[in-house]
Amino acid sequence: MSEDFYDALGVSRDASEEEIQEAYREMAREYHPDVSDDPDAEEKFKKAKKAKEVLTDDEKRRMYDQMGHERFEQAEKRGATDGDRGGMGGTGGQGNPFGGVGGMNDIFDQFFGGGGRDRNAPRQGQDLRTRMTVSLEAAYEGITRDFSLTRPEGCPDCDGAGHPPDADSQTCPECNGQGQTTRVQQTPLGRVQQTQTCRRCEGDGILYEETCDTCGGDGRVQREATLQVDVPAGIEDGQTLRMSGEGAPGENNGPNGDLLIEVRVEPHPDFERDGDDLRFDAAVSFPQAVFGDTIEVPTLDGDVEMELDAGTQSGETFRLQGKGMPRLRGRGHGDLYVTVQVVTPSDLNEEQREALQAFAEAGGEEVDVDEGFFEKITGSF
Ligand SMILES: [Zn+2]
Ligand SMILES: [Zn+2]
Repeated sequence: MSEDFYDALGVSRDASEEEIQEAYREMAREYHPDVSDDPDAEEKFKKAKKAKEVLTDDEKRRMYDQMGHERFEQAEKRGATDGDRGGMGGTGGQGNPFGGVGGMNDIFDQFFGGGGRDRNAPRQGQDLRTRMTVSLEAAYEGITRDFSLTRPEGCPDCDGAGHPPDADSQTCPECNGQGQTTRVQQTPLGRVQQTQTCRRCEGDGILYEETCDTCGGDGRVQREATLQVDVPAGIEDGQTLRMSGEGAPGENNGPNGDLLIEVRVEPHPDFERDGDDLRFDAAVSFPQAVFGDTIEVPTLDGDVEMELDAGTQSGETFRLQGKGMPRLRGRGHGDLYVTVQVVTPSDLNEEQREALQAFAEAGGEEVDVDEGFFEKITGSF
């Protein structure tokens, strides 16, 4: 039989937050496992810590008081195992003392009926997601892009109410205008009094004789919206841009959700991207590689000249500093790495063939250049 949180801290049920904090500090001094010899110290310390966490959080304390110790702990356990973010004790989402998605919150909804308790509280609209594809050039420059999406918006004809402003109404007979119904139910966690949002009036307490034709009573409509987004220079494939307030409309005058735009950067035919750096393969002829040359190399900012050293090997890489992608965070650009690919001549005329043969012989190489052999070489390229 577990001792409840108030007893664990030795405070009364109406203790103020200060009293609770003070009681906790005392317990911590006495039972901190690093200082205490009491064999149960760790257990006591943990319990006190837990008690303090719950009782100094208004929302959690209210729930604890409502549910009682036993049920609260069970629900929390369920929440902690069901929830993908570990239920309670997390960082705590906005207005949600249990942080995580699902888990405890779902359990809580089971008790109190689909969030019925919060039905009339302002709620932020859902975040919406969409995708956008941009070219590497656009990612290099940064662009402002118009795009369209279909999203829910508050119905313009009824202002989100779901009924015409002048519709006749009556008090909901199901809940007597309370917006909630109460029933006692058997649940896996014992007998609970369950307060549910009234199904008939959906929590409004009022029934309207007419529904809005435009939205069918939903208060929101799917609309195509055209928006403009700034895609910053240097954006990487897979990054998400957030447009605040462009998501689904909030409920009960709550704020809108956000629109999250996942940006895909298209692969480029010439450049391969590696973070802020770019890679490019430059084809050069055998004589260029032998004698060195000045070659033109494309960049996303126009062609530049690059000095090719005499005797460059195929596969050798040169770095053009600052010719890569702009850095999204921080200043400047990455680099452009140019890898030289020496193209082996494959379609020689008679003159070239003789010159090359002479070249080989001058170097003391013996190359058997009969017709058949040469055909084999050219054929393989
Ligand atoms: Zn009702
Ligand atoms: Zn409407």
